[in-house]
Amino acid sequence: MSDPRERKAYFNLKAGPEIKKIKKYLENNTFIAYFLGKKNSGKGTYAKMFAEVLGEDKIDHFSIGDMIRSVDEEIKNGQKKKELISFLQKNYRGWLPFEQILKFLESRNVKVLLPTELILALVKREISRRKKKSIFIDGFPRDLDQISYSLFFRDLIGYRDDPDIFVLIDVPDAVIDERIKWRRVCPLCQTSRNLKLLPTSKVAYDKNKKEFYLLCDNATCKDAKMLAKEGDSLGIKPIKERLEKDEKLIEQAFSLYGIPKILLRNSLPQKLAKEYVDDYEITPEYVFKWDDKKKKVKILEKPWVVLDNAGEKSVSLLAAPVVVSLIKQIVKVLQL
Ligand SMILES: [Zn+2]
Repeated sequence: MSDPRERKAYFNLKAGPEIKKIKKYLENNTFIAYFLGKKNSGKGTYAKMFAEVLGEDKIDHFSIGDMIRSVDEEIKNGQKKKELISFLQKNYRGWLPFEQILKFLESRNVKVLLPTELILALVKREISRRKKKSIFIDGFPRDLDQISYSLFFRDLIGYRDDPDIFVLIDVPDAVIDERIKWRRVCPLCQTSRNLKLLPTSKVAYDKNKKEFYLLCDNATCKDAKMLAKEGDSLGIKPIKERLEKDEKLIEQAFSLYGIPKILLRNSLPQKLAKEYVDDYEITPEYVFKWDDKKKKVKILEKPWVVLDNAGEKSVSLLAAPVVVSLIKQIVKVLQL
């Protein structure tokens, strides 16, 4: 499943007719989908894989976090800053005077949340840059007031005939915890992998520290050692509050009328796994052993079982089967 060609065959096997229907729809239509999921729930991965299957020329994805970071860069660049200001002068409507908004952007402390009205104007700009493409927006709505904005959002952005969809992602905290704890990042190309759940093809062993580590398998990185980011060993502890807030937000979105909703489940109870999914659709856990005779790392795969938020022994699905579910539900929601 890590090979793009194998993945293509897998998607055709599991959702061939649905993929055809969506492709046909996308020839002349677009949609906007808002991803609602906790931090690290895999939103970016799902959106990218969906685009890989349905066509990168038809599907795009952007995250509010990246959008804000790019605004921080624009503010430092004379010409780009001018363009940004001129766009906001035309498109920003809100409770704070424009001058204050500008000051806000210029002296922004990363921890401070930008006003919703400003985010709205910026999202609008991102969408207008992607004409004729369907879009997955990741990280919005971020707050309750933003949920209500997003309800009539498409009317504001000239997508009036386009359907919009909430895509809710349900993932156990334990999965997020392990994703963070074992995350390893290449210092050169920033590729992110996981020592326990998604290793690269090259695993090495440090005899002195008795530690296994990943080497980036990106050819240009020349076997760079992948590193843990500061604080990652704490797992979800530092973001516990944020996760609880996200959960409330998702619950709230669930109870909304009038907007189609898609639910993606990352996990299912272990006892139901045999009935509903194939073994190769389940996230395995990788275990390493050092073979001192052959001077080689032995890589073993075993089933990975986590407790879901209700304390039930569960298995976690790989991204591809979750995307299959996304494809099937989109067909239903769009009535194709
Ligand atoms: Zn790299």
